[in-house]
Amino acid sequence: MNINGAGTKALVVLSGGQDSTTCLYWAIDRFGRDNVSTLTFDYGQRHRIEIECARTVAAAAGVANACLPIDTFAALGGDALTDDAIAVRQELDADSGLPNTFVPGRNLVFLTFAAAYAWQRDIDELVTGVAQTDYSGYPDCREETIEALQASLRLGMERDFTIHTPLMHLSKKQTVEMAVALGGLEAMALTHTCYNGERPPCGQCPACILRARGFSEAGIDDPLPGAA
Ligand SMILES: [Zn+2]
Repeated sequence: MNINGAGTKALVVLSGGQDSTTCLYWAIDRFGRDNVSTLTFDYGQRHRIEIECARTVAAAAGVANACLPIDTFAALGGDALTDDAIAVRQELDADSGLPNTFVPGRNLVFLTFAAAYAWQRDIDELVTGVAQTDYSGYPDCREETIEALQASLRLGMERDFTIHTPLMHLSKKQTVEMAVALGGLEAMALTHTCYNGERPPCGQCPACILRARGFSEAGIDDPLPGAA
């Protein structure tokens, strides 16, 4: 199905995780495989395996993948995803009310660079796996934030960008169901979710727990080797 007409090109921000991989299959369904490409950010994440997973997922789906380096987040430090000295915690920070896996500004910067990359390639449709339901409470995943950013990008680059967020209002269970419906279940075996960078996954961190709950509630076996 291509409700936007032939030739509408889309860029998927692909992290190598379950959600962005589901979005990749959503984009292929909506825009057609030949019109979809993916962009991955090397932001100094501790778990380099994510970048490799993104490449593998894109190759398996038959779409191009580019990786852009942004090492500034690691230089900023202070979060558990880029700083080796900080362990992932379950509980929220008492002051900010946010998990310590929150990388301030990450999605804002990712989508801004994605738009700049898309601008150069005549792509107007951007796709991201952010969601405000059932997730970690990151403020840059909220619909309000994405709508405001979309308005800024349109103004700032003089281009009619649309940021598609197919998972915005879905629970993890519904995200699993979407992946299955779009033929993306097998690709889930290639994704990476664990905040501790473990493969097979640790099963204990917030990301592993959310993922396991989603598959369990959907009544689907997670094809990821070693997943609960
Ligand atoms: Zn884990």
